[in-house]
Amino acid sequence: MSSTGKHTNKISRRTFAKSMAAATLGATNGTALTGAAQAAADQGSETTIHRFEQGVPFPVNAYIIEGQDGLVVVDSTLTVTASKALRAEVDELGKPLRAVLLTHPHPDHYAGLGNVTEGLDVPIVAVSGVNDVARRDDVQKNELLSGMFGDEWPQNRIFANQSVADGELLDFGPGLRFTVRDIGPAESHHDSIFIHEGERPQAFVGDIAYGLMHAYMADNHNPEWARAITLLQDELPEDMVLYIGHGAPVTPGFLAWQDTYLDRFETAVLEADWSNPDAGAASVVEAMQHFLPNEQLLFLMELSVLPNAERLTVLRE
Ligand SMILES: [Zn+2]
Repeated sequence: MSSTGKHTNKISRRTFAKSMAAATLGATNGTALTGAAQAAADQGSETTIHRFEQGVPFPVNAYIIEGQDGLVVVDSTLTVTASKALRAEVDELGKPLRAVLLTHPHPDHYAGLGNVTEGLDVPIVAVSGVNDVARRDDVQKNELLSGMFGDEWPQNRIFANQSVADGELLDFGPGLRFTVRDIGPAESHHDSIFIHEGERPQAFVGDIAYGLMHAYMADNHNPEWARAITLLQDELPEDMVLYIGHGAPVTPGFLAWQDTYLDRFETAVLEADWSNPDAGAASVVEAMQHFLPNEQLLFLMELSVLPNAERLTVLRE
């Protein structure tokens, strides 16, 4: 893997503009392209995105990006069954796995890394903030989730073995080039996204938005999450396809829905009557089911109510 580019602590418009310039060139008429632009166009057409969905016990996506002569996987699902099936799909495609990219340190995205890379010597890539949190919190996640998922909770959990920084260009061969964006605390304690460098604007954005499903907010960074959404709304082109961690792909316009979801949740927590904490929590869940009338990932939102009530100081011990 070659790694070039500028290191910055926040999302840099310049890096993004540069990648978009390449994408725009790639979209113009092939006969007028320079060598570099033709390469960009070729790269786009050489890439296939495979969405892999863990269905049980709850929906989580991982992705296989298929380039001309290799594959990159984004995230690894949670369960033993799903992560092994993801690996089987990698093997079926018959091209070498060049790398695995990890968007954020939640178990439904990293716990399957051991199964996905079993027997292979491949870089597992994450920004250092994502890697640090995954390693730090694994003991605690293990205690919680081994009880919750039993035999389906992978015992062979591993972590990223290569750290990358904001703005770095990752090159795993034709059709497999990505720019890293270090987001910081948002849906999790540390989020990142990977912008694919190709003909069509597309990015792998982890859980920065949930596809019409309830959200996990128990890491308690909703204000930072809302700020990250504002930043991305400003920067991402409106036709960029965002491959998200739960649900079907969206475009940046959908980020407004996620922002509203966070806002409704905050309001519901603030307006609840906390003199009876159980009734207060139930009223928040009811309000959110009014806003999003389904039960998809409802348990993640339910887990989030009390931590946020404490942050907002409406619920005191
Ligand atoms: Zn997730």
